[in-house]
Amino acid sequence: MKPPNLNLPDSIKSLYSTDEVTQLIEFRKSLHREPELSLNEYATQKKIMTALSTLNLSKVEPIAETGVLAEHPGKNPSLPPIIIRGDIDALPIQENTGLDYSSIHPGVMHACGHDVHTSWALASAILINKNPAEGPIRFIFQPAEEIAKGALKIIEESGLKNAKAIIGAHVDRNYPTPTIIAHPGAIASNSDTFTYTIIGKSCHGARPQEGNDPFIGAATIILGIQTIISRQIAPQTKAVISIGKVDGGHSHNIIPEKATITGTIRSFSEETRQLLHTKLNQLCLMGESFDLKISCTIKTGAPSIINNERILNLATIEGNKLVDEFCQPLNTPNFGAEDFGYYLKKIPGCFLRIGCRAENEKIIPAHNNQFFANHESIFVGGAILSNLAAQLSKEIVVPNSPF
Ligand SMILES: [Zn+2]
Repeated sequence: MKPPNLNLPDSIKSLYSTDEVTQLIEFRKSLHREPELSLNEYATQKKIMTALSTLNLSKVEPIAETGVLAEHPGKNPSLPPIIIRGDIDALPIQENTGLDYSSIHPGVMHACGHDVHTSWALASAILINKNPAEGPIRFIFQPAEEIAKGALKIIEESGLKNAKAIIGAHVDRNYPTPTIIAHPGAIASNSDTFTYTIIGKSCHGARPQEGNDPFIGAATIILGIQTIISRQIAPQTKAVISIGKVDGGHSHNIIPEKATITGTIRSFSEETRQLLHTKLNQLCLMGESFDLKISCTIKTGAPSIINNERILNLATIEGNKLVDEFCQPLNTPNFGAEDFGYYLKKIPGCFLRIGCRAENEKIIPAHNNQFFANHESIFVGGAILSNLAAQLSKEIVVPNSPF
């Protein structure tokens, strides 16, 4: 087979043999062609374990039901491991990319690039296998990121055991390859969900005085929410509250008993997160003036990702070696959610973003049915993650290592 022509700097291309390039692209195409939803990644798990079986790893085992934990012992297996994490699940979306390796599973698609994340985790295992690090490098192929359950399962099943640090990355089609985004501070937000339930009294639409209209309460809550970010949060603090669903009623002439409002709350710091929760709860009091019962339930989701400063600095140094001026911070803050944040509540780490389109290609948002990441991003991700992990492994032997 003719090796594919990759548009990448030599610093990255030279790390991979022609066979490895071909293998990784075929692996990626196979994942993309057969995407699997969260906690259902059985075929994906099998493909990962088969691919890893050819490497000299000390461990390749299932974790979190459909995930895989593998470990390379390194030169000194008694050192604490550094973890490279790649997420592996797909989304319930019907693919419309026209790619020759499009999904053959109706209504399921790798629309967030996790096929590439799985592939670059494999790529990093291949590179570490060829060029072992000082200590062990652990590879976690994590299921169920899209439903924010996978990281918690990995933690529950001791996937972080003895590990000193964890690193990972996400593809980003806002940036051309070979961009590596190494951003100081927050790179994903706290992501929580709120639901208001407004209970009034049902009656005929022609005689509203006989009931209590829950929609008046809903409208007041909707407007009240708009004042939280604009009037109660400091202008320099970044946060978002968006309503995604308003529900209630079933006929034009019946005032219903109940209405509900559901939405998402995004913030970076724990302090802002708690303040937003308090303010959303306080809005319930507005119901009293309408004789309505309003309650608010807040479900806490994935925590924000705050990059460890020391690890981020090392990532920037390693990124510069590979891609030069293409290693940069984010242009704008990212309010996306990532369950990688759960790991950083336990051990220090760093999360990068990797550009995944050609310079002349258009920007397509993730979770869109036309989204795809280019093959090149696999090799950038594999290179930076393995180089950074190896560097971290070297650093932890230094006495009084800061992380
Ligand atoms: Zn994703």
